[in-house]
Amino acid sequence: MRPKRDVKKRKRRTFNQKKVCRFCADNIMFIDYKDLKTLKALTTERGKIIPSRVSGNCAKHQRAVTEAIKRARNIALLPFTLES
Ligand SMILES: [Zn+2]
Repeated sequence: MRPKRDVKKRKRRTFNQKKVCRFCADNIMFIDYKDLKTLKALTTERGKIIPSRVSGNCAKHQRAVTEAIKRARNIALLPFTLES
């Protein structure tokens, strides 16, 4: 295989960088709503869910994340919004 390194693209791939779903990478099948460390990483500091196009999650896992975050919000583990 031809090495894909040093094919003179320096700072060009800010957009088309292929992100890999972190849950697929770790082979995590479902996301625990009690796992605040993971959920916090997937929400903004104001409590909004980070869209999959930013986080790089696949659709399947993004749905699972959404579900887990909503569940966590419902039992007050995560805020719905933060007033500033
Ligand atoms: Zn995934």
